[in-house]
Amino acid sequence: MRILLLGGTSEARALAARLHPQVDVLSSLAGRVPDPALPVGEVRIGGFGGVDGFRRWLRENPVDAVVDATHPFASTMTATAARVCAELGVAHLVLARPAWPHGDAIVVASDTEAAKTVAERGFQRVFLTTGRSGAAAFADVDAWFLIRAVTPPEEQELPTRHTILLSRGPYRYEDELALLREHHIDALVTKNSGGAMTRGKIDAAADLGVAVVMVDRPPLPAGVTTVGSVDEAVKWVNGRS
Ligand code: NAP
Repeated sequence: MRILLLGGTSEARALAARLHPQVDVLSSLAGRVPDPALPVGEVRIGGFGGVDGFRRWLRENPVDAVVDATHPFASTMTATAARVCAELGVAHLVLARPAWPHGDAIVVASDTEAAKTVAERGFQRVFLTTGRSGAAAFADVDAWFLIRAVTPPEEQELPTRHTILLSRGPYRYEDELALLREHHIDALVTKNSGGAMTRGKIDAAADLGVAVVMVDRPPLPAGVTTVGSVDEAVKWVNGRS
């Protein structure tokens, strides 16, 4: 049995490790970050070229199933895989880690809405963790931003007053607590990524009374088969062999 595992997450790496070598797993990474954490087994790196490219790739490289374990905010890849697999009749599963509970967070639908919320509420010292491409939405907001990203923000306008902190998770609760205190943060802006690896900031913000502005997840494509854990994904794959 051969599967294409769309990755870029710790869950995808864990799934590859659980399936390899009994299942022939080809992991796919977008190639966004230099020196990515690599899963065990075979790996390909780079986009497929949109819907047409993915359709062509699947025809030329047949697999028994596609498991989409991309990040919950990787909605373009997820939409492409769902559409093309349905069209070609290829078995398809989405592994989507459970979302964080909203708690007292101010829930918004997009980076733009998050920026509007920060401006309207008058937050002044903002910890921005929505990723390198999300920072542009905050360019016109009059506040100071601590922008944390894995790689430097792309060519884009950034808020006038900011500091960039390049780092890669996982992040420990104690370190997040110290960071929020050190920079006198009054608001945390985060995606609802879910998972334990980056949850520390949410718990630290809650414990310090720091406001949380949480960008909600994009919806999954209609009708896709979804599981919430690596265990369930292993069962789904093994059930097909
Ligand atoms: P996206 O917006 O859904 O995808 C943009 C394009 O990147 C896709 O159209 C596809 O290019 C390519 N791509 C995405 N995932 C791919 C994969 N696993 N293998 C091959 N090509 C892929 O995704 P994104 O939000 O930019 O995320 C890119 C990657 O980073 C994903 O693999 C995701 O799991 C990982 N990641 C994302 C986040 C996040 O917050 N978005 C956080 C952590 C990790 P083509 O159209 O050319 O095929």
